[in-house]
Amino acid sequence: MTLTLADIFAARRRIAGVAAVTPLVPSPFMQQRTGHDFLLKLETTQPIGAFKLRGAANAVLQQPEGTRDGTRGVTCCSTGNHGRGVAYAARARGLRAVVCMSSLVPQTKIDGIEALGAEVRIVGRSQDDAQRECLRLVADEGLTEISPFDDPAVVAGQGTIGLELSEQRPDLAAILVPLSGGGLAAGIALAAKAINPDLRVIGITMDRGAAMHASIRAGHPVEVEEVASLADSLGGGIGLDNRLTFALCRDLLDATVLVTEAEIYRAMQTLYYEDRIVCEGASAVGHAAILSGKWSPPGPTATIISGRNLDMTLHADIMQGRDVTLGDLAIGGQPYAA
Ligand SMILES: *Cc1c(COP(=O)(O)O)cnc(C)c1O
Repeated sequence: MTLTLADIFAARRRIAGVAAVTPLVPSPFMQQRTGHDFLLKLETTQPIGAFKLRGAANAVLQQPEGTRDGTRGVTCCSTGNHGRGVAYAARARGLRAVVCMSSLVPQTKIDGIEALGAEVRIVGRSQDDAQRECLRLVADEGLTEISPFDDPAVVAGQGTIGLELSEQRPDLAAILVPLSGGGLAAGIALAAKAINPDLRVIGITMDRGAAMHASIRAGHPVEVEEVASLADSLGGGIGLDNRLTFALCRDLLDATVLVTEAEIYRAMQTLYYEDRIVCEGASAVGHAAILSGKWSPPGPTATIISGRNLDMTLHADIMQGRDVTLGDLAIGGQPYAA
């Protein structure tokens, strides 16, 4: 399976009008900190509040058109931004979308997906149960499963960010990318490096449960334990049978950097108080890598502010410097100070 720059240009034409071309705005604070131009790619301004719409739209828009109550349609089992992206893109295409979830998923997530016009199917008590239902819908009802990252159409869709960055700032020396399954990082690296081979692409993730980082180290996909994180959108594995994003990230990323929960907490405060941006923990890992001193820009740098879909009570707690608890994770708060 090969993906080329031509596939990413084709994705851009296909998703135009469904996914947004997003702004790239300067961060004067981070520029002063790093001594180089520092830019924020605001995927928070997508209609679903996250970049996942790009890949989901590129995959869904390649399905034959259908009727919403017909048998044709798409399915996935993401309760997060990918589920939102698939639901939104399916509605734009007039296709039925079924998002499978376990009974442990909070009602707000169910409401969010239903508000985008998708059916929600609650099955069992784990992500594995939801995944089994998804596969059953593929087998019995002929729905097409849209993978959150390990699908060439999804990677090409995320890669349209790399095209936009190359045009918005052709002089970029580096791009910082939040890293989980690797669809975002692989797509951006593929596009941006095809246009400028000297550009560095750095994948950044949390130090607990960093599946792609551990897999690149091991030389093959490995499983890691999934734990709670402020960067919840970066949780989950890359799949032991990964067919695409593992090899692309291994070959195209110049480095991977791991950041702690305390560093993500502080970076979310910095984005709010200095850049006036509300975003999820996953979006703050680029700031975290720099503010912690773990990575230094070699020149003009862009960071992907990948999404803004978080609980606003949690956001308010962090902005006030309060302690927060998520599952097995407790983080001691600190009021913001530059
Ligand atoms: C999915 C997601 C990521 C990571 O993307 P991958 O393609 O899985 O690496 C980063 N940030 C947000 C907000 C996401 O939803």
